[in-house]
Amino acid sequence: MSAPFSAESVLVHAGSRRIPGEPVPPPLVPASIYHSGGEPVPGRGYGRESNPTWEALEAALGEIEQATALIFASGQAASLALMLALAAGRERVVLPADGYYGARVLADLLRSYGVHPVHVDSCDLSAVQAALTEGPSVLWAETPTNPLLRVADLSALGQAAAAAGAPMIVDNTLATGLLQRPLDWGAVASLYSLTKAASGHSDLLLGAVVTRDADLLASLRAWRSAAGGIAGPFEAWLALRGMRTLPLRIARQSQSAQAIAEHLSAHPRVNAVHYPGLAAGPGLALAARQMPHGFGPLLSFELDSAKAADAVVSASALIVPATSFGGVESAWERRARWAGETAPPALIRLSVGVEPAGDLMTDIDQALEVL
Ligand code: PLP
Repeated sequence: MSAPFSAESVLVHAGSRRIPGEPVPPPLVPASIYHSGGEPVPGRGYGRESNPTWEALEAALGEIEQATALIFASGQAASLALMLALAAGRERVVLPADGYYGARVLADLLRSYGVHPVHVDSCDLSAVQAALTEGPSVLWAETPTNPLLRVADLSALGQAAAAAGAPMIVDNTLATGLLQRPLDWGAVASLYSLTKAASGHSDLLLGAVVTRDADLLASLRAWRSAAGGIAGPFEAWLALRGMRTLPLRIARQSQSAQAIAEHLSAHPRVNAVHYPGLAAGPGLALAARQMPHGFGPLLSFELDSAKAADAVVSASALIVPATSFGGVESAWERRARWAGETAPPALIRLSVGVEPAGDLMTDIDQALEVL
């Protein structure tokens, strides 16, 4: 299903079938082999090439951004395929210094294979432009950044990348294609950890790349088949099931996150709150232009010390102490507990779930009482 219907309607019906007498939900197809003799049918020679359950999920993801999607075993497997597909001839990967730290870890591991990671503040356009003019590069963007929720100007970054002849990748995990459409701002690909809001139930790991570039798609497909970073059919089926309710979940999560960010801003024990919907002046205007339907489930806030943050995280009764974000259950953690993370030591990252916002505020307030 596609136009004239909205992405929301497309997702509700994603993968479902209209064949008289047949089940409506999409089938789960666990298969490593296909009936195949003679010249192999493309995608149906062997289970590492493709799978009908992957294809149903890929069709749904592609429809959100009017593009083509390929799924991978995890967000990191998707990132690795992208870096490998794009690095040849342009070894510099210009990455946000305060984005998801796993991307920096991955680029660092690729140093011995010729990749040269360059960390920049992607909200500083002249720093990005300078980094891109030093040599053939890939621009790796992420907005809002995780965990400081800073908003980079995708239109300006897309123009800087085009001027330098650098392909721009945007990690769109946090916003999803429902809240932000990087391909419309000049990105050659959107990258997703489907582990997060897209699947939404904290019960699987998966990743995806969404692109309109046929050459990149062919290269990614080749890397996926050859390297084998493929999805399990069951995970793909679960993710497709979860995506049917993504529009409802992300709308409620964005609304609750905004209310909680405002609530925390007025709390005497909270020193700073980070959420795109709070940014004063032009920051908020930019966020609203890029994310017209909401700012997503993630916010962060800072207390006096790492010890205080640890005590508060342990004191919740409803919010789960856990990493990751975008699930139906709210979760939080002191982010700097991870080696390689550049977040301030006393920063708590909160992923707002679908519980009523009032319950979450009650839980946050009682946890802050331990201070
Ligand atoms: N991108 C972002 C923004 C993430 O937060 C994560 C994981 O936390 C990833 C990519 C990697 O995804 P995965 O854990 O599915 O490999």
